[in-house]
Formats: sequence, structure tokens, C-alpha cells
Amino acid sequence: MRQALQTLIELAQIDEELLVLELSRGDLPKRVEQLKTELQRQQEKSDALHASVETSQQQKRLQEGELAELKEKLKKYQQQLFQVKNNKEYDAITLEIEQAESNAETLEFNNLELDERIEASKVQLQSLQEELEHRRQELAVGEEQLHKVLSRTAEQEALLKQKRQRFLNVLNVQIYSQYERIRRGRGGSAVAYLANGACSACSSRIPPQRGMEIRMMNHLYVCEVCGRILVWVPDKEVAGQEK
Ligand SMILES: [Zn+2]
Repeated sequence: MRQALQTLIELAQIDEELLVLELSRGDLPKRVEQLKTELQRQQEKSDALHASVETSQQQKRLQEGELAELKEKLKKYQQQLFQVKNNKEYDAITLEIEQAESNAETLEFNNLELDERIEASKVQLQSLQEELEHRRQELAVGEEQLHKVLSRTAEQEALLKQKRQRFLNVLNVQIYSQYERIRRGRGGSAVAYLANGACSACSSRIPPQRGMEIRMMNHLYVCEVCGRILVWVPDKEVAGQEK
């Protein structure tokens, strides 16, 4: 157990250094991720808008075709009107003309509406494009910054991770999973030191009898208050007393 606890102490130091490295990157990785998500969302919105403009334009072309046909028909009716032979024919053609005129009016009205819709979408699309361009630039800057920070810390991180792996290879799996569980729950630190009769992490007093047991380093004890694994390192004890 003593060996395992020593390994835990080393592991905790490495994890602390890794945490410092991670903190040095700040919220940059998160921000870059957020920007990417935002960009994607806006791109999808822009694509949808683009598609709807196209649909409207297609519809408008169809309606213009129908309108042209109607106008042709109307011309024909007007000519037929001069050649009618009786009232019945006259009435029939007049009815056709009225019907065609009414249809043409509806189509023209629909076309105007489509024009308005297309115009509004285009305005929206324009501002969306500008926003997209802005976001792309923001993302490029963020990614460059992130790349710089990462390359600065990458070597150090790789070394620490290698070292970490070596400790993991010799550490008991159960002890390691307990360590990880505490670490996740305690903001990245799972090991506390017995210093001056107290837990170095939460400062709660450790009963002298328990303190002696912890100094022996023969068993794994956790702090009853903060739940961290308690270990004893002579240096830390001195440092604690100096305070
Ligand atoms: Zn504690």
C-alpha cells in the first residue's frame, strides 16, 4: 500500500501540472468550439433561406408563364368579340374574358407578394452573410491563438502524459478508479496531505490517532470532510508548520 500511496502522490503532482497547463489555455478551446457551433448554425439558416428564395423565384417564373398564356388568350378573345354572330356567342366570350381577367389579376397579385417575400429574404440573407463573414474571421483568429498556445504547451503536456502513463501501469486499478472519482468530484485534486495535524486541502483537524495511522502510510484513508485521499510527506509537514 505504501508503494501505491507514493505513486498516488506522484500522480497527483503530475495531474496538478497538467491542470496548470490546461488553465493556461484559458477558455480559448471552449470559445473556439462555441464559435464553430454558432457558425454552423448560421450557415444552416443561410442555406435554408437561400433555398426558400430559389423556390419563390421558381414559383414566380411558373406564374409569369401562366400570366403570359392568359394574356395571349385574352387577345384572342378580344378578336373573337369582333366576329360574334349573336348575343349568345357574345355573352359566352365576355364570360371567358372576365374569367381570364380575374385569373390574371390574382396571378399578378400573387407575383407581387412573391416579389416582396423574395426581397425580404434577400435583405435577411445579406445581413446573415455579413454576420457569417464576421464569425469566420473571429473563428480564424481564435483558432490561430489556440494553435499557438497548444504548440507552446504540447511538448510539456506530452511528457507529463507519458510520465502519468508509467505510473498508471504500476498502480492498482481499484485505487486508480477511486483516485479518478475523487479527482473529478473535487475540481482536479484528489490527494491531500497531513500537515500540522490537519487536512492540507480543507484544513479540518485530523484526530492524532488517525494522524499516526496516516503517517505509517499502510492504509488508504480519506479525509472525512473533503473526501480526498490523505497521505503523509515529511516535506509537506514542515511546510505546514512554517506557515
Ligand atoms: Zn480534507
